[in-house]
Amino acid sequence: MTTDKSLKIYNSLNHEIEEFTPVSGNKVFMYVCGPTVYDYMHIGHMKTYIFYDVLARYLSYKGYSVYFLMNITDVDDKIINRSIDRKALYLLKDTDMRLEELAEKLGLGVEYARERVIELIKSGLVELADTQDLRRELIELEKKLSLVDDEIEERKLEEQYEALKDSITPNRVLRISENGKKIIDEIISRGSKLDPIGIAKEFEEYFREDMKKLGITTINVYARASEFIEEIISVAKKLEEEGYAYDTPNALYFNSSKFKDYGKLSGVDPDREYRVHRIELDPNKKNDADWALWRKIKKGHPREPCWDSPWGVGRPGWHIEDTTIILRLLGSQIDIHGGAKELMFPHHEAEIAQAEAYTKIKPWVKFWVHTDVLTVNGKKMSKSLGNYISVRDALKVFDPEVLRYWVLLTKYRHRMDLKLPFEPDLLNPIKPEHLLETPIKQAEQGLERIYNVIRYASFMPKDDEQDDETRKLGESLEYMKKEFLEALDDDLDTPRAIATLHEFATIFFKYCKDRGKLNKKIAEEIVKVFRELGSILNILQKEVMKLSDERMRDLVDLIVDIRDKLRKRGEYSLADEIRERLRSLGIILEDTAKETRWYVSRESPS
Ligand SMILES: [Zn+2]
Repeated sequence: MTTDKSLKIYNSLNHEIEEFTPVSGNKVFMYVCGPTVYDYMHIGHMKTYIFYDVLARYLSYKGYSVYFLMNITDVDDKIINRSIDRKALYLLKDTDMRLEELAEKLGLGVEYARERVIELIKSGLVELADTQDLRRELIELEKKLSLVDDEIEERKLEEQYEALKDSITPNRVLRISENGKKIIDEIISRGSKLDPIGIAKEFEEYFREDMKKLGITTINVYARASEFIEEIISVAKKLEEEGYAYDTPNALYFNSSKFKDYGKLSGVDPDREYRVHRIELDPNKKNDADWALWRKIKKGHPREPCWDSPWGVGRPGWHIEDTTIILRLLGSQIDIHGGAKELMFPHHEAEIAQAEAYTKIKPWVKFWVHTDVLTVNGKKMSKSLGNYISVRDALKVFDPEVLRYWVLLTKYRHRMDLKLPFEPDLLNPIKPEHLLETPIKQAEQGLERIYNVIRYASFMPKDDEQDDETRKLGESLEYMKKEFLEALDDDLDTPRAIATLHEFATIFFKYCKDRGKLNKKIAEEIVKVFRELGSILNILQKEVMKLSDERMRDLVDLIVDIRDKLRKRGEYSLADEIRERLRSLGIILEDTAKETRWYVSRESPS
C-alpha cells in the first residue's frame, strides 16, 4: 500500500511542525505512556488517549502499518499507598486504634503511616476519635494554599499545615468513618484485593474496560512494568557499568550531568526545574536533578512488592520502567512517543537520556507528540480539589461517543477547560449530573446534528433526478471530504475537521428542505463519506433507525414512569439498570430534581 506523505505534525523535540515520515518504510512504531493503575481513569486521561487513538487511526487510514504499544505502570508508590489505605480501613473496620498501633500492624514507621492517615482523613474515610474538625481544617488550608501567590503568606500557611499534621501524635486514636466503613465493605464484598499487585490488576481491568467503551481500540499491546523487572535491572546495570549511573545507600541514580542533551526536549533548566517538580531530595545525589533507576527499601517504608537486584532489595524507578519496555518491545529507534505535556519534564527527558545512553543511537524517538491538559474551571484536575471526574461517572450521563466528540472539539495541543457553574472542592465535589450543565451537553447536540445527516440521508423520500442542486450538493460533499482530510493533515486539527462536517450539514439540510426529496445516489454517497470520515475519529459508526411511532413514545413514557416509582422506593440499582438498558437502545434519561426527562440520542438498536 502506498502511503500519503502529506501529514504534518508538531514535533516537541524540534519545537516545530514537521512532515511525518517513519524511521523506515511504511511501518510506524508508536508508544504512549499509559496509566498508573491505582484508581479509575479520569476524563483528563481520556482526552490524551482519545487523541492518540485518532492519530493511530489516521496513520492507518493513510496507509501506514501502525504498531501501537502502551505500558501499564503496575509498580508504583501510588499503588502501594492505595494498598496501605485499604489495609488501614480493613484494620479500623471493627476497632478504633492508636496511630502507633496501626503503623505497627501495617509494618510501617509512624511517619509514613501518618502521611497515609492524613490522606484518609481528608477523604473523609477516617477521623480522629475525639474530633471531626481536622478534616475541614486540612481541606480549607489546602484550598488556601492552592490559591495563594504571595511567598510569605504561602510559608505561613505551610507552617500551619505542618502543625495540623503534627497534631496527629502516635497516641491519637483513629476511627473509621461511616463512609469509610461503606467503602471497605464494598471492597470486601466485590472480592477486591488489599495488596498492591491485586489492586493494580483490578484497576488495570477497569482501565481496559473504560478504554473499550470509549472506542480506544487501536493499541496492539499493553505491557506491564512488573513483567520486565529482569530487563530493567539489566538496562540499569549497563548504565552503571558505563558510568551513567552511581550507587548510593538509598538508590541507584542516573547521573543527569553525564547526558549533555538533558533538558533539550522541554527546554527547561533541570537544576532549577527539579524544585518545581518535587524530585526527591537526597544528600547522596551528585546533582539535584538525578533520578532513581532502582530504589532500595527504606526503613519504616512499605516493603511489597520488591525484587532482588545487584544494588539490594527494592523497586525500579518509573522512568526506567517505560524506557526498558520500549527498548525491549520496539527496538532502539521508534517513530512516535506520546504522552501528556506534563510528562515532558522530568519523565520524557529522563527517558531520552536513559535510552540514548544505553543504545548510543540518536534520536531515540523521531517524533515526540504531546497533548495539553484538561482543566476544570481553569484548575488542574485532582482528587484533593474535589474537581476530579472519572470516565465511569461521565458515562453515567453521556454516551461514550459524545465524550469522544467533545474531546475532539479542542485541538490536542491546546488546553481544554471544562467550565462548571460552581466551584467544586472536597466538601462539595463534582457529581455526574453536574456535567449536564457543561459544554459536553452542547457537544451532544452537535453530534446529534451530524448524525441527522445520516438519518435524513437514510430515511428521506428518494428520487433519481439529476438537477443543478444535486450536482452542487455532490460538489459540496467532495469539497468537505478534501477539507476534512486537509485539517487532519495539518497537525491533526480535529476541531476544524469536525467543523467541515457541520458546514456540509447546513448545506444539506437546506437542500432537503428546499427539494423535499433526496437524489438516491447522492444520499448513498453522503452516508458512505460520513461513515468513512467518522471512522477516523471513531464516531458516526452506529446504525440509525426510526423511532417516530407515537406508541413507541408512549411506551418509553411508561417505562420512565415505572422507573420513577422504583426510585421513590429507593430501588436505585434496578432504576440504574433500566436507565443503562434504555441508553443502550439510544434512549437517554436525565434525572433532574423535579422529574425525569428523556430523549432519543442515537436511534440505534444497540
Ligand atoms: Zn512514560
